[in-house]
Amino acid sequence: MDLEKIKKQLLEKREQILKSMEEASKNDLNEKTGVGDDADNVTEELSRETFYRLNQADRETLFLIDLALRKIENGTYGICEECGAVIGEKRLEAIPWVRLCIDCSQNEEIVRAFQQKNEEEMLYNIIPPALGGEEEESKAVPSE
Ligand SMILES: [Zn+2]
Repeated sequence: MDLEKIKKQLLEKREQILKSMEEASKNDLNEKTGVGDDADNVTEELSRETFYRLNQADRETLFLIDLALRKIENGTYGICEECGAVIGEKRLEAIPWVRLCIDCSQNEEIVRAFQQKNEEEMLYNIIPPALGGEEEESKAVPSE
């Protein structure tokens, strides 16, 4: 495995993300200039939030890239964080900042999908029933 090559790849991708984030924040600033009324603060808050949300994937990748670079430095690069197995070279070439081997990442995806499903069900369950829910509600409150 050519660590120097991978390191270069990681640094290039890092640069690329930082640049695109910079561009995005510049555009964001340009949009804001010219707005000078009382709603200014609200607009700023909203667009900042949008900006962060849009860039969440990029920031995550950035974090993973830094992690991978650190691993190259301390000699743990290419080792699965979950099970300690050596991650396949092809996999690392495709995604140099990958943290898990194929098996573990598949498991993680299953767990994640399961958690998401549970969260959706929980959300669904806390929606009160449209009719006839009043009695249930008063029973649920403990009287002391
Ligand atoms: Zn693993």
